Amino acid sequence: MKALENKILSDGVVLEGNVLKVGSFLNQQLDVDFIMEMGEEISRIYNNDGATKILTVESSGIPIAFAAGVKIGCPVVFAKKNKSANVSGDVFCSSVYSFTHKTTNNIIVAKEFLSSDDRVIIVDDFLANGKALIGLIDIVKQAGATLIGCTCAIEKGFQHGGDELRKQGIRVESLAIVEEMNSSGIYFRCN
Ligand code: 5GP
Repeated sequence: MKALENKILSDGVVLEGNVLKVGSFLNQQLDVDFIMEMGEEISRIYNNDGATKILTVESSGIPIAFAAGVKIGCPVVFAKKNKSANVSGDVFCSSVYSFTHKTTNNIIVAKEFLSSDDRVIIVDDFLANGKALIGLIDIVKQAGATLIGCTCAIEKGFQHGGDELRKQGIRVESLAIVEEMNSSGIYFRCN
């Protein structure tokens, strides 16, 4: 999505440890019109795929997932992060290592919100090593639901999480793929 690449170039800040900061439009302040445009793009990607749910994980995935849900016309479910190892009864649960916080959390979704009848698109803000997507895919599998595909706003291609999932046959369509970033610039994967 060219507009997203331009936004990353104008507003993105490259931090230590391969972290890209996009606080001005996605991770702290929300550019609501632009987020709706990303939702529109996700709706275009999955046109006619019959999604019944968008699935994301709190917190930064929620705005884009919401925009996708509005444009596609289906509910948005967000997995909650839970530090405790004790997870009660009627939930799907998966363990996810957090790239940004360097901790492992359980992510949980109440069973009532995902079923084997669902056709699911997973949406998140960033894709790095793929751990968040792997956890969300695991939850879709536990529910017996059908995974249509995964879309992250910004994939960092040089961390290979997206390509590993593609190799497994999972549809991963990111809105922008950063191939390289350093103090002198941010460079995108050519399509
Ligand atoms: P992964 O699980 O693919 O390694 O990392 C994805 C998760 O880590 C996303 O949910 C996102 O919140 C966070 N993340 C990974 N890389 C970045 C980054 O460069 N910037 C920001 N703001 N978040 C990131």
